Amino acid sequence: MEKICFIIAMHAEAQPLIERYGLQHIQDYFGELPTELYRGVINGKELNIVLNGRMNGLDLIGCEAATLTTEAAIMRLRPDILINAGTCGAFKSKGAAIGDVYLSNGPVMFHDRRVGEEGGWHDMGVGNYPTADARQMAKDLGLKLGKCTTGSSLDMTDTDLNIILREGGELKDMEAGAIAYVASLHKVPLICVKSVTDLVDGGRATEEEFHENLHRSSAALKDACTKIVQYLMTEQPTLF
Ligand code: SAH
Repeated sequence: MEKICFIIAMHAEAQPLIERYGLQHIQDYFGELPTELYRGVINGKELNIVLNGRMNGLDLIGCEAATLTTEAAIMRLRPDILINAGTCGAFKSKGAAIGDVYLSNGPVMFHDRRVGEEGGWHDMGVGNYPTADARQMAKDLGLKLGKCTTGSSLDMTDTDLNIILREGGELKDMEAGAIAYVASLHKVPLICVKSVTDLVDGGRATEEEFHENLHRSSAALKDACTKIVQYLMTEQPTLF
């Protein structure tokens, strides 16, 4: 792997990794877009972290920003692999705990794009865009595996929950589905790395729990991402 590109939504999620590798902010790399590039050369190989950027001082989160970021990153950087690193909600009932780090397992679904009950339009709504096969990597690095499910809200309605349970979703976020869509169009392999900030069935208010754990989960995310970078730069993993 000569060129790795991380796509990350929030500065708090990215900062530990940026500091770990001493990456440089390349000012105005993406012109008028809010997208931000942090770059470094590690053992002769290029490490890029691309962030959605900010609006009114807040990190841009969600699918629209993630779509734009991924398209711009692929077109400008031509990475060998994309890694979407971020935080997520997960299910206590499925064995998740705060600070656990997961790799994506199988395609990424959407849980809030409802178009009928079945058929082609329904399937388009659910998305299920492919990710690279990270099972061996998860085993080698001691990380868990889970199916990513994306929506446009931090909270979860009963309808969302029913769809997540029906379709087998495990890791709830706001960007992975959009990133997987764009990556699949360009045939760039994608792995999602998700660190749990909140338990969606834990009985606590998501936003409060998210804030309480963001720092700790971002540190766990950095540790996992460091192992992944090392792995990708030294091993020749089979990802397809
Ligand atoms: N209110 C927060 C905004 C963060 S939104 C703040 O003030 O900082 C949550 C971000 O973390 C999104 O980028 C999303 O991908 C991820 N995330 C973490 N837990 C989530 C959950 N339970 N549901 C959806 N997204 C979640």
